[in-house]
Order: sequence, then structure tokens, then C-alpha cells
Amino acid sequence: MPEIRDTVILGSGCAGLTAAIYTARAGLKPLVLEGHEPGGQLSITTLVENFPGWPEGIQGPELIDNMRKQAQRFGGEFQLAHLNSVELGKHPIRLETSIGEILARTLIVASGASARWLGLPSEQALIGHGVSSCATCDGFFFRGKEIAVVGGGDSAMEEALFLTRFASKVTLLHRRDQFRASKIMLERAVAHPNIELRTNTVVDEVLGVEEKEVRGLRLRDVKTGSTSELPVHGLFLGIGHEPNAKMFAGQIDLDEEGYIRTTDNVFTTHQGKVVAGVYACGDVQDRRYRQAITAAGSGCMAALEVEKFLEERGH
Ligand code: NAP
Repeated sequence: MPEIRDTVILGSGCAGLTAAIYTARAGLKPLVLEGHEPGGQLSITTLVENFPGWPEGIQGPELIDNMRKQAQRFGGEFQLAHLNSVELGKHPIRLETSIGEILARTLIVASGASARWLGLPSEQALIGHGVSSCATCDGFFFRGKEIAVVGGGDSAMEEALFLTRFASKVTLLHRRDQFRASKIMLERAVAHPNIELRTNTVVDEVLGVEEKEVRGLRLRDVKTGSTSELPVHGLFLGIGHEPNAKMFAGQIDLDEEGYIRTTDNVFTTHQGKVVAGVYACGDVQDRRYRQAITAAGSGCMAALEVEKFLEERGH
């Protein structure tokens, strides 16, 4: 029978790493399973200027690396592994992973949410060089510049409106002429003098791969098939996020968009009843704030609940 770990943390973004620091410091030797996007969304951003304690800002990957080292200093262990399946109802919790079976007394789910991308090779090549999925993180770098936002939902409207604080002009590109966005958000965007809406328009290519900097977009009108170039310095994707929680469906309550429902901040439930020893933190359970600092805060809460749970059971 494999060793039973006190706690396993699924995900190595800001929430998972904060949970790792706290549980490691409490002597629980957490095992962090790093998943398919080690370091989470911060690892694909550039300068983070709103994480308290870094008056000059800090690069996202460096912040993540620091947190990882901090957890390791207190005995946190890391493994690159994917979760194939999990059995939460019984104790110990049984995790079937790409590196074999792992047994745990508690589980912290910090598997995050992944931004949706268009999937164009040129877009992928320019992430962090003018292509971003986070207006709050990167908008500041586009002061006085022209940029484009893709999407027709509330996220895209919100990003476009937020980005007008910096950009001289925001072109909002949507693939249809019907919007998912709420009426009020759409009206605000339409009314804004610095936002131009272009419907029935898709991005075929992001220009600037050779220069390693976005210099424009090749657009296509889906109704007429005509193509054009839009000179912009930035492209923001506002086409939604996917919470990485599908593997828990049927064992943990998810909301209508697939985010983990939590009660008292980090407790998970199944059919409304708390699932003992299983906590969720960070973006996998937060579709409202989605900030590094809020993810870190909930990672801390999950860790403290793990400590309490184990202590009450004499571990
Ligand atoms: P969403 O409502 O699902 O909208 C996603 C948008 O992206 C849709 O317009 C969709 O186009 C487009 N899209 C998806 N994949 C695309 C692709 N490959 N290429 C081009 N366009 C693509 O997602 P969301 O805007 O993130 O909102 C999610 C939820 O959070 C919603 O319930 C929303 O109300 C809420 N939210 C609220 C606020 C707020 O109230 N302040 C802010 C943000 C989010 P189609 O329409 O053609 O499918």
C-alpha cells in the first residue's frame, strides 16, 4: 500500500503554491501535482504590478518561481503529473495520476482556469509580446496605443472598457452580429468614443511574429470573405475561461459554468453536503475576482482548513 500523504495539492499556480507554503510550513510535507500548465496563468504574463510587496512590480514567472522555492524550503514536494481520475467519497482519497496511484488524507484543488485562445500559431507565438488574455495584468503596457479585443460576451466588453483607460483606440472584434454580453455592458461599449465595434469579423493571423512584437492583425469578414489588415500593437482575448474542474463532475458540485461551488470560502460540497477533507481555492472556484492576490488568499484559507481537519483527526 503506498504511503498516505497528509495533503496533496492539485495545481501549481498562485493558489496552489500559497497552499503549499502554508501546509509545508505546518510540517505537512505537501505534494504538489503541477499539471499541464505549471505555474498557472502568472507564468504566462509579464510584469505583475499589483501584487502587494513589489513596489517596482515583478515578472509573473519570477513571482511563481519565488513561491515555489518558498514552499520547497519548508519541505514542499513537486511532481509533474496529470490527474486521470479521483475517488473522493472514501478516505484516504485515491488519486489515479500519470505517475501512479497517490493516497491522501486531504486534497486541495487549485487547478485554476485556463484562458481560451483562438489557437492560431501566430497568436501563440506572440503571447506576452502584445497578445494577452488579461487586461488587468497587461493593459498598462498599451498606454497611448491602438489595440484590439476579441469576443462578444461580458468579458470582452469589460476588457475593452477597461483598456480605454490606456489605449488610444480599442477595436472590438466579434465573429457574429449577435452578442452574448449583457445589454448594459454592450451599450457602454457601443457608447464609448474610443471603442469601435466590428462584427462578423475573425482574426486569421496576428502579424509581427518575426519582429516578436504585435504590429497588426489580418482580419476576415465572415459574411463577404474579404480580408483586411488592422494595425494594432496589442491583441486581447476576451473569449472566456475554462475552469479545470471537469474531472470532479459528479463528486463535487460545480456551477452552471463548470466552476467548483464552494461554501465558507474553500469547502467543497457534493449535493449540498460538505465533502470532508477536500478544499478548492483560486480560479477553479472564482469567476469573479481572478486575481493573483485573491488566489493566494484562498490558497492560504484552504491550507489552514487542511491543518484544522488533520489536527481534529489526530494526524
Ligand atoms: P461568454 O459569455 O461565453 O462569451 C464568450 C464570447 O467569446 C462569445 O461572444 C463567443 O462568441 C466568443 N468566442 C468564444 N470562442 C471564440 C473563438 N474561438 N473565436 C472568436 N470568438 C469566440 O464568456 P465571458 O464573456 O467570459 O463571460 C462568462 C460569464 O461571466 C458570463 O456569464 C458573463 O456574464 C460573466 N461575466 C460578467 C461580467 C460582468 O458582469 N462584469 C464580466 C465578465 C464576465 P459567440 O457568441 O459567437 O459564441
